[in-house]
Amino acid sequence: MGQNHPVAALVVAPQVAACANHAQREAIGICVQCRTRVCSECATKVEGINYCVSCLAGLAVDGGKRAPERTPGSRGLAYVSAGAYFVALWVLVWGYLEVMLPGGRW
Ligand SMILES: [Zn+2]
Ligand SMILES: [Zn+2]
Repeated sequence: MGQNHPVAALVVAPQVAACANHAQREAIGICVQCRTRVCSECATKVEGINYCVSCLAGLAVDGGKRAPERTPGSRGLAYVSAGAYFVALWVLVWGYLEVMLPGGRW
């Protein structure tokens, strides 16, 4: 007759999120980079963020430099604008000197 084995419910269904590398293991997280499901063994937390093995290797290749800002252009622009400002100020001061010291002295 219909003997229901409760154990059957414990069998991991294909729907359950399993680790991409270990089909038998339950995924405990998702890699933030490639969205790969990772189990506790495959996941490595870097600064509280889950990374899979391959992405972690990518991080290692990067040398862990992880530049705080990925827009070197903005910083360069800041330098340029600061330089332009300094030059303008210098010209202004030079102009004042020319005005306050009327020619004829030299
Ligand atoms: Zn990944
Ligand atoms: Zn795994």
